[in-house]
Amino acid sequence: MKKSERMKIPRQRMPEQSPDERRRCFVEVNLGLADETAQLEATRCLQCKKAECVDGCPVGVDIAGFVDAVSQGDMEKAADILYRDNVLPGITGRVCPQETQCEVKCTLAKKHDPVAVGYLERYVADWARVHRAQVAAVAESTGKKVAIVGSGPAGLTCAGELAKRGHDVTVFEALHRPGGVLVYGIPEFRLPKAIVDKEVTELERLGVKVECNVVIGQTYTVQDLLADEGFGAVFVANGAGLPIFQGIPGEHLKGVYSANEYLTRVNLMGAFQGEQADTPVLRGNKVVVVGGGNTAMDAVRTARRLGADPATLVYRRSEKEMPARIEEVHHAKEEGIDFKMLTNPVEVLADDKGWVRGVRVQKMELGEPDQSGRRRPVPIVGSEYEIECQVFVEAIGTRANPLLTKTTPGLKLNKWGNIEIDEQGMTSIPGVFAGGDIVRGGATVILAMGDGKKTAAAMHAFLMAN
Ligand code: FAD
Repeated sequence: MKKSERMKIPRQRMPEQSPDERRRCFVEVNLGLADETAQLEATRCLQCKKAECVDGCPVGVDIAGFVDAVSQGDMEKAADILYRDNVLPGITGRVCPQETQCEVKCTLAKKHDPVAVGYLERYVADWARVHRAQVAAVAESTGKKVAIVGSGPAGLTCAGELAKRGHDVTVFEALHRPGGVLVYGIPEFRLPKAIVDKEVTELERLGVKVECNVVIGQTYTVQDLLADEGFGAVFVANGAGLPIFQGIPGEHLKGVYSANEYLTRVNLMGAFQGEQADTPVLRGNKVVVVGGGNTAMDAVRTARRLGADPATLVYRRSEKEMPARIEEVHHAKEEGIDFKMLTNPVEVLADDKGWVRGVRVQKMELGEPDQSGRRRPVPIVGSEYEIECQVFVEAIGTRANPLLTKTTPGLKLNKWGNIEIDEQGMTSIPGVFAGGDIVRGGATVILAMGDGKKTAAAMHAFLMAN
């Protein structure tokens, strides 16, 4: 097909559950592309000589290569190409902010809609999950042992890359289930846990061992791993899961949650199943969530599914400044989430028994851009009013948990408590590397994976030299 003909094909739509159905259940919203639709979408790719989309991908997937294979219906080849650079494509195909990464660089995006790279990535990964098992070759054993702390996307990616190079890799995870934010934070309706489980199983097939319920800093220290447990190197990827609170009056009240606790109760502990679950969650007829990122969006859409009406999102800037993925914002609106932009909570209000009865909020306007480049929200004096709710969820960010860093003498941290690393990803302790949110602060799945991949290469060199 000529380029001009390809350019006439419109971007294909992802089929999804109707908003009315999905706001009552936790089943995945996006349903995946059918074979013909995927092939048609893949045909839109212009196969640019200098494929700039790849520059937008932190793990450097050969996008033009796997998309071309899809357009020819050669799924084995598509999966080979995709898995070569990305060990978790079923996950990234679902949660990556493609609109600001690969798709924004697509040549088509200059005049048309970009190729739906995320949809195609998901399509190939879902095909591979059903049609084949072992997806990567493993080098001969090096006899070297490596410890990974944390089983989020950074840890899992690093583990996979090191196992492929022939190292004996053990992942230590504090929780009872591997996956990090992918299982405790991101809800089932965006990323089914079965997808994460399957991708972890694929890593286990490569030889990666996963030990859950092990807290590094408590069960073992980092020094124990190096000195007593025989590990030649350690990759610290324990994320940044410590919630930040606004620091407003009333945060101690019954009915106030951090988004992390709220989502963990519902997702990881299964509180969405109601009385069948051991872990409860307060439902509340009216729920207010504060924040503008993916976490806030997940929390408010979860509240809606648990029956909140309204489930209200308050954010101190305007919708344009929201860091959440565009698709999540769009889905949230379709599900009837009440968006109150340029609004900031200033107090959580109590009833006479110490339960939340509402939040006092203040309207904001946008001033000059701040350090992040976004326009600064400025309070409007005298604009305060109350919103009734029984549950108030704070999703304004997280920071590094000090449990590991405090018990690791000599580990250099920055002023926010994140681990400092050199260009190779090595910390101030020789043989101890770090990546993902514990280094960057709260970022994205693909950036964490990029760290895992890049650092694995440096760790391999370190292990082979020592
Ligand atoms: P994590 O995923 O946080 O994993 C760290 C793991 O380490 C956890 O399993 C933790 O239990 C474990 N751990 C912690 N301390 C210890 C210890 N001492 N010993 C052993 N194990 C330990 N990004 C996107 O790209 N797209 C999205 O749609 C998106 N949505 C998000 C939604 C929510 C609710 C949240 C919270 C984040 C979201 N993000 C999203 C951000 C993304 O999930 C993170 O940037 C990413 O997971 C960071 O990966 P990580 O491997 O560094 O850490």
